[in-house]
Amino acid sequence: MPSRPAPFPVKKSSAASPVKEVHIVWLTAGLSCDGDSVSVTNAEQPSIEDVILGAIPGLPKVYLHNPVLDYDVGEGFMKYFYQAERGELDPFVLVVEGSIPNENIKSEGYWAAQGTDHKTGQPITTCEWIDRLAPKALAVVAAGTCATYGGIHAMAGNPTGCMGLADYLGWNWRSKAGLPIVNVPGCPVQPDNFMETITYLLFQVAGMAPLIPLDDKLRPTWLFGKTVHEGCDRAAYYEQDDFGIEYGTPKCLVKIGCWGPVVNCNVTKRGWMRGIGGCPNVGGICIGCTMPGFPDMFMPFMDEPSGARFSTAALTMYGKMIRALRAITNRTVNGEPEWRRPGRELITGYQPRAGAYRSQSGLRAA
Ligand code: SF4
Ligand code: SF4
Repeated sequence: MPSRPAPFPVKKSSAASPVKEVHIVWLTAGLSCDGDSVSVTNAEQPSIEDVILGAIPGLPKVYLHNPVLDYDVGEGFMKYFYQAERGELDPFVLVVEGSIPNENIKSEGYWAAQGTDHKTGQPITTCEWIDRLAPKALAVVAAGTCATYGGIHAMAGNPTGCMGLADYLGWNWRSKAGLPIVNVPGCPVQPDNFMETITYLLFQVAGMAPLIPLDDKLRPTWLFGKTVHEGCDRAAYYEQDDFGIEYGTPKCLVKIGCWGPVVNCNVTKRGWMRGIGGCPNVGGICIGCTMPGFPDMFMPFMDEPSGARFSTAALTMYGKMIRALRAITNRTVNGEPEWRRPGRELITGYQPRAGAYRSQSGLRAA
């Protein structure tokens, strides 16, 4: 992706941020299960508590407004959305969770909404909230695969015509600070992936980090630059043509539906919580939940991916031969060298230097 000029001056010191306060306005009223909000409560690198309670040096004071996690309810909660809309909550980062329905394709009612329009008494649709808040936000983040690319709700045959945030706002959309939408996909989002990204953006808002590096699907490159397969505990089995055909095996799961070799996701390296988990590492197939083509392009789940038939067929000869040769070498290197035994002769091959002498307890240098 071509590099863009940083929208904020980048400070090199760890001095306090010139931006004292930032709000995170988190809209969960897309089509979703709120699973991303729940998932993020498991983050530790950093945790939500670390960010909100000011445990991270240099970060501005952060206020979180999320309907799943907030103590406030009703108008007490909604007032922050109205303030953000009026420009009274500045700066703020807008987080969108859930896919964006198409409100133009129906004759009555609405697909998704949050709060009430005080002028009309009618629900404010999710699309209206995005239209009102996105132009005022310093940065906009799509959390989870529903918000990033549409996800489960946007699969073939759905009645809502829903889509991801970049489909709705436009892939070239920029915030008032010149930032593209930042996509953190996952179904749900991996907790630390999200918190690391939001922390990066908060540092950027504070002028203390360069422009966030994104790929052409607007994902942070350091999180989504590698495949599941490249970090998988089972990759050595794949290489050796050693495939499981049922669950509960430690072997490679590609024959029972793992898409890991072609999916951008870091959970096999990062784990899910405290470094533990990460679908194939703990016995689950990768169904490509971080990908724009999810779920349609990965179905039917649990069938061997068609491309895998070819690539694993090509491995058959090579893998079997390598496995046999490695078994021989493995037996060899499991043996100790022959000189490691008691006896009166030194048989290690050691050659004493001139002037060395023998004592009763062995060979000593003079
Ligand atoms: S289980 Fe999946 S990700 Fe792991 S080695 Fe096999 S194909 Fe690759
Ligand atoms: S390994 Fe696959 S299924 Fe698991 S989180 Fe990553 S993309 Fe989703």
